[in-house]
Amino acid sequence: MDTAEFDRFIVEYPIFEYRVIDPKEIRVNERVRMICKNECPRYGSTWACPPAVGGLAECEAKLREYREAVFFSTVSEVRDILDFEENLATRAAHEEITDKVGAFLKEHGYDIYILSTESCDICTHCTYPEGKPCRFPERMHPCVESFGIMVSGITEQYGMEYDLGGNTILWFSMILLR
Ligand code: SF4
Repeated sequence: MDTAEFDRFIVEYPIFEYRVIDPKEIRVNERVRMICKNECPRYGSTWACPPAVGGLAECEAKLREYREAVFFSTVSEVRDILDFEENLATRAAHEEITDKVGAFLKEHGYDIYILSTESCDICTHCTYPEGKPCRFPERMHPCVESFGIMVSGITEQYGMEYDLGGNTILWFSMILLR
């Protein structure tokens, strides 16, 4: 990937940090999926979550299909970090930026696959698990954790910030490319 061109592109967005990483170096961990299952109220509620995204081996194989991955964070400031609703409301801006980065990479000839944040909320009522396919497979992005990826592990491995403290939130996405 031409990082100089990418740097010129992202300067317009509140992308806090990014790294271009080798998907072969991304470790997947069943423990992350267990956290989804045991702690996330959206587990099993959309095609963007486990178990709909497939088994861990399937997710790992998907990661390995790609040559590179752009892993990046955006930063948002909120009035009160303890206000869950206010925090969650900042997610939409991150998703929009993720789609713009994805569009930029596509325009530059890459075949991409996006992993982003949280479960999917595009439709009021998800078709999962009713046996019908996802209505918008091109717009729906599984969350990074659904693939068994520990975000804090990646930030540590690549020397990135995971938490800035105060009333700031970091959101993370990973765009696989080939
Ligand atoms: S796009 Fe709609 S059908 Fe697809 S995962 Fe999201 S909410 Fe479900």
